Amino acid sequence: MQLFLDLMLELASLIELLAQPRRIVITTHHKPDGDAMGSSLGLYNYLIQQDHHVKVITPTDYPDFLAWLPGNGEVIIYTDNIDAATVLVANAELVFCLDFNALSRINELGELVRQSGAVKIMIDHHLDPEDFDDYRYWNINACATAQLVYTFIADKLGNNAMINKDIATCLYTGIMTDSASFRLPNTTADVHRIVADLIDAGAVNWRIHELVYNNASECKLRFLGHCLSEKLEVLYEFNTAIITVTKEELEKYDVITGDTEGIVNYALSIAGIRLAAFIVERTDKVKLSLRSRGEFPANDICKKYFNGGGHRNAAGGTSTGTLEEVIKQFKLILPEYKKLLIQ
Ligand code: 5GP
Ligand code: MN
Repeated sequence: MQLFLDLMLELASLIELLAQPRRIVITTHHKPDGDAMGSSLGLYNYLIQQDHHVKVITPTDYPDFLAWLPGNGEVIIYTDNIDAATVLVANAELVFCLDFNALSRINELGELVRQSGAVKIMIDHHLDPEDFDDYRYWNINACATAQLVYTFIADKLGNNAMINKDIATCLYTGIMTDSASFRLPNTTADVHRIVADLIDAGAVNWRIHELVYNNASECKLRFLGHCLSEKLEVLYEFNTAIITVTKEELEKYDVITGDTEGIVNYALSIAGIRLAAFIVERTDKVKLSLRSRGEFPANDICKKYFNGGGHRNAAGGTSTGTLEEVIKQFKLILPEYKKLLIQ
């Protein structure tokens, strides 16, 4: 089976395009996570070495625990700089789309990218890519988009020697966060070899762990405590655990972007639990984060019922219903999956 698909634009043409300085935009998904920012800034730090004019544009803000990443100071957040971002996308010669594969994942920025005359390059590891790109480097077996950025630079472009400390730091962060610290099944020996190469290139692994994982506010920890002691519900009949949070609770604990990340994994860490959900009431909609173990397809539930998607073991979606309605709907869906959940 061919794992990497080169569609439409030939690699040789892309290499030729990159042979002279270009106006380049790199963008990534709504509420970027460690892989979204790590892969985007990894590629950014590679491309600026070659005198391209490069801007990373994110559709929304992202957690403070990623703000130390090399190149972060140059990132443009679309919602804070709509005019500047619009001009940059309209004038771009190349747009790299990282860690997403449907333009709806980048909100209003999606239409701007669709309308732009730029060559669009998708680098991604999510299922079911949408057809908006001119060149695609896509592999659902990759544990992170940062892994694909590494192989894109090293194998496709043949520039392994140009992977410096900044690039290595960003890519290490992406692989570490998306593989849940090298724990998920797709953290293969090849991934460990890539990670070793990144450490050789200057990524300081223990320091990156400190910066990402030991960087919480007191509020974040107290909110986590509240979720675990008061809001965790274990549905043993379905080997499922859920944590639900209201808007008022988010306000009470001063929860900011990034503070809710990872809470769902605590629910999944209970022995025997195969599916965990974190369901949170946001201002305009209810957001669901699902995690599963083994073969259980969390993305199936998100795709079918909650306008979302993702990976088999980590998926997300949204609903315009009330929090109570969404919780009820989620529980009503479980019997459909009972066989898979209790086997
Ligand atoms: P999280 O639960 O951390 O928000 O997301 C987990 C995974 O699901 C990520 O891979 C993310 O890309 C995907 N995901 C989260 N929300 C959505 C969504 O609304 N739509 C789609 N298609 N994927 C999502
Ligand atoms: Mn990813």
